[in-house]
Amino acid sequence: MNLILLGLPGAGKGTQAKKISQEYNLPHIATGDIFRLLAEEETPIGEKIKEFLDKGQLVPDEYAIMILREKIKKVDISKGFVLDGYPRTVYQAKVLKEMLAEMDTQIDMVFYIEVDPERLVERIAGRRVCLNCGHSYHIKYNPPEQPGICDYCGEELILRSDDREETVRKRIHNQLNELNKITDYFQEEKILKVINGGSIEEVYVEIKKAIEGES
Ligand code: ADP
Ligand code: AMP
Repeated sequence: MNLILLGLPGAGKGTQAKKISQEYNLPHIATGDIFRLLAEEETPIGEKIKEFLDKGQLVPDEYAIMILREKIKKVDISKGFVLDGYPRTVYQAKVLKEMLAEMDTQIDMVFYIEVDPERLVERIAGRRVCLNCGHSYHIKYNPPEQPGICDYCGEELILRSDDREETVRKRIHNQLNELNKITDYFQEEKILKVINGGSIEEVYVEIKKAIEGES
């Protein structure tokens, strides 16, 4: 089962992807997590990626596609995967389709988690993430058991450098247009499922129903 989660920054893609990944035992592939790790490295490519992240811009398609291609080669996707943060452009979506066709597979379902942009800023301001295992928390809506510590791996939680309010607004603005084009693209492919962004559990119930063929 090959799944994609779409949504603006803060919509809950990572949160839901982790839940799906655990319950259905599918690898969670998050391009944002991969870019954040690369941006920590003092390499020419790491420094270039950091510039895009810090400005709240998308990383150019060529990097995103290269990163995804490498990741898909490394992880075991024989049972499928949950993709979070990719595609961010229609071009990336089309390349993904070709990549999967070469492997005799395809995207089965695309979930678009729709949340009012005004709510996203509050969500992101309270987000704390684990750079080690990629889990994300919210200080109010989804707090870790011990403040500042990841429940899953015990590493320290951080505030992402691109989660400052000014950068968040830029990211939302920069991604809105292309996201609409991507949802149109998957709608035409007849694999899009729109989920209304309620609580974490409400969203997950809707996703589960769709996965299990109940809606
Ligand atoms: P994305 O991966 O789409 O950028 P995240 O999954 O990291 O978003 O969620 C953004 C923030 O909002 C996190 O702090 C997360 O704990 C919180 N969050 C996620 N889903 C919900 C929800 N349905 N209601 C309230 N807060 C949520
Ligand atoms: P995310 O963790 O998904 O919010 O992604 C964080 C940042 O990584 C984004 O703001 C982009 O700069 C970059 N990024 C992640 N995935 C992609 C992608 N598929 N294409 C381009 N840039 C991406």
